[in-house]
Amino acid sequence: MTETTIFQKIINGDIPCKKLHEDEFCIAFNDIDAQAPVHFLVIPKEPIQSLLECVEKDKNLLGHLLFIGSKIAKSKNLNNWRTVINTGKESGQTVFHLHIHFISGRKMNWPPG
Ligand code: 5GP
Repeated sequence: MTETTIFQKIINGDIPCKKLHEDEFCIAFNDIDAQAPVHFLVIPKEPIQSLLECVEKDKNLLGHLLFIGSKIAKSKNLNNWRTVINTGKESGQTVFHLHIHFISGRKMNWPPG
């Protein structure tokens, strides 16, 4: 059996979060360790570990996550932000429940570290 991730606990309501959005497919909430003035995560309710596990049936869900995150960003009057999806340990993924970072409110550098 796979371990219950911290994000699954957030979905289940077992640990609190600063929730920005919820619908039948996803929730969005502020990152606990914000890397910029705005830093929130959009995650599917379905426990998909990462993009690596996504299959054909997940296409619409992936679009939905991006759409909802962008809608939240626009509702905050943002017109610059960075979206990040870490896939796998070496990319920096620490929570193995798919999530999209939306980061904004400061100048970003490229390339990322
Ligand atoms: P990753 O490194 O896997 O791409 O990103 C995981 C993100 O989840 C990190 O930015 C981390 O700060 C955030 N995070 C980890 N635990 C919690 C938590 O309990 N609550 C919230 N809101 N964010 C968390």
